[in-house]
Amino acid sequence: MPRPLSATVHLDSMRHNLARVRACTPGAKVWGVVKANAYGHGLEHALRGFADADGLALIETEGAVRLRELGWTRPLLLLEGIFEPADTALLDQYGLNSAVHCVEQIAMLEQARFSRPIDVHLKMNTGMNRLGFRPDQFAHAWQRLRAIAAVREITLMTHFANADELEHPRLSVREQVRRFCAGADGIDGPRSLSNSGGVLHQAELAADLSNDWVRPGIMLYGGTPGGNTADHFGLRPTMTLASEIIGIQEIGAGETVGYGSRFEATEPMRIGVVACGYADGYPRHAPHGTPVIVDGVRTRLVGRVSMDMMTVDLSGLAGARVGSKVVLWGAGLPVDEVADAAGTIGYELMCAVAPRVRMMEA
Ligand code: PLP
Repeated sequence: MPRPLSATVHLDSMRHNLARVRACTPGAKVWGVVKANAYGHGLEHALRGFADADGLALIETEGAVRLRELGWTRPLLLLEGIFEPADTALLDQYGLNSAVHCVEQIAMLEQARFSRPIDVHLKMNTGMNRLGFRPDQFAHAWQRLRAIAAVREITLMTHFANADELEHPRLSVREQVRRFCAGADGIDGPRSLSNSGGVLHQAELAADLSNDWVRPGIMLYGGTPGGNTADHFGLRPTMTLASEIIGIQEIGAGETVGYGSRFEATEPMRIGVVACGYADGYPRHAPHGTPVIVDGVRTRLVGRVSMDMMTVDLSGLAGARVGSKVVLWGAGLPVDEVADAAGTIGYELMCAVAPRVRMMEA
């Protein structure tokens, strides 16, 4: 028998969340962002769950090749573009759309030979200061790309640093949009600005923000960039990480649990041992009190998460036994809520699900 630990991917919820994206941004085409193995969900599952997306976007060139091999025929976008001159052959062979964010990438495209037209996304750095040309360098970069015979369509793109917080005091979405419009002034081409935060706040931003293509990631997986607000936006969890109780300890007041003996019982307790640990992707730093569900009832993590196991409070759960079902996150327990408790974000938890966790589709 394999360990009773699995991650179930809910294809219906993926379809539902994609429909929510379309409802928030009518008329925009949707890149389903599937980097990092589809935020931990597996590219095969993403291919089915997001079959209606207009395109899929990712970082990994090998992932893009795999998606083509799995039969994805619509556009594919490399969000960081190419990394070395040899990658230009992949753009050509697999018909990939590439982000272009630096002069080195433009030089690679200038020197490449293409057997067919290629489409690119030219990226502007509007304040995130990660990738992209600054607004005053943007027109020059665009002209160099325009001069490459094989380049067909140039989409103008940027990325928001604080899309979950519209009025961020240091760098607001509106300020990034303003810089984008200034840098792209007079340049024709489709535009792609919004990640999930931009999509979710499209209604408030509508006057400032026009997208031909949006690029949502986390909201397609039922999370939100701002934390535990998925319900508010009508999003559904796409992954349930579930396990079972594999052992029970009855302990007395004053006894401690687990490595470091960091949890001490103040009264007699039943402790359930769950088959899931940090080697499975559950955050080791999750503190006592992080919510879990046992047999449909919410309870809490106690003691330190170890490599393969964690321990939960079964006091008050008289029916709990070895074999009881445990939900670590998913239906009834949003991943963002667990992430909040652990001081991280839902993105990190889902991406960290380890290869040894059985992945299933529902
Ligand atoms: N676009 C780009 C360029 C990104 O790097 C990312 C992810 O970081 C996304 C879109 C999707 O972002 P989110 O998951 O917040 O929607």
